[in-house]
Amino acid sequence: MDALIPVPVQCPHCWQYFDALVDVSQGDQEYVEDCHVCCQPLVLTVFLPNPETPEVSVRPENE
Ligand SMILES: [Zn+2]
Repeated sequence: MDALIPVPVQCPHCWQYFDALVDVSQGDQEYVEDCHVCCQPLVLTVFLPNPETPEVSVRPENE
């Protein structure tokens, strides 16, 4: 089953929005993904209060 849900996130480097693909089958998670716009590494923290509405917070990897 396709458990990837696109979630719009804002890059803290370039302030552009892009869609992070969150694998909701993995539960709460934290992983590094490069910004789709400026390619800076970002730490994405995913919370799943409900599997259909993942919440994602983003911070720069080096903080
Ligand atoms: Zn960026």
